[in-house]
Amino acid sequence: MKVGVLSLQGDYPEQAAAIRALAGVGGVRMVRNRADLEQVDALLMPGGESTTVGDLLDRTDLREPLAERIRDGLPVLATCAGLILLARTVEPSSFGADPASIGAIDVSIRRNDYGRQAESFEAPVQVEGLRAPFPGVFIRAPRITGVGAGVEVFARQGAERVGVRSGSIWGLTFHPELSPDRRVHELWLAAAGRSAQPANQKIKKSPSTKTKPTRRNHG
Ligand code: GLN
Repeated sequence: MKVGVLSLQGDYPEQAAAIRALAGVGGVRMVRNRADLEQVDALLMPGGESTTVGDLLDRTDLREPLAERIRDGLPVLATCAGLILLARTVEPSSFGADPASIGAIDVSIRRNDYGRQAESFEAPVQVEGLRAPFPGVFIRAPRITGVGAGVEVFARQGAERVGVRSGSIWGLTFHPELSPDRRVHELWLAAAGRSAQPANQKIKKSPSTKTKPTRRNHG
């Protein structure tokens, strides 16, 4: 399986390093444009600054193709800023403009809701499917404030919901790539492998009819 890492801003090098060595990964591709996106069977959306990544999704014309591939079932592991960008609702934060999100997973989220950088912390996370707790690294983390009916909470830190999944979309508010522990990546990879189809079956061919493809509004 070829795994893409959205590489516009944030800790994508760490995500690429974390996934590269795992069994079942047949290559890692840094995703910066549509052609990259079309070549991957699964995608990591790393942490970073969600407003910046959101802006870059628009500037690189990736927002719509990304939304479309996710709708078509592309397995995604989104962490922190990545999850903010996938959420259905980004609740207003006190940190200025919040990004427009893709709305691929039915959760509400609020940015930086544990406080500023100084309030970043590490804490054990209970992850479904893992016997021992996972060492969670939370960096200016968002808080999941609401979860839709079709969304399963599979990771908790105390009473907080810190891991959610819906079909092949997984979202975390912590950073598994910053721990040496690879169990969360392995769980996701196994689930992705079960649901992924080869990338070449996903590429949309241009319509063969004479009608021109319409260019949709990027919002
Ligand atoms: N605070 C960042 C944001 O709002 C997210 C932090 C992170 O990805 N660790 O986008």
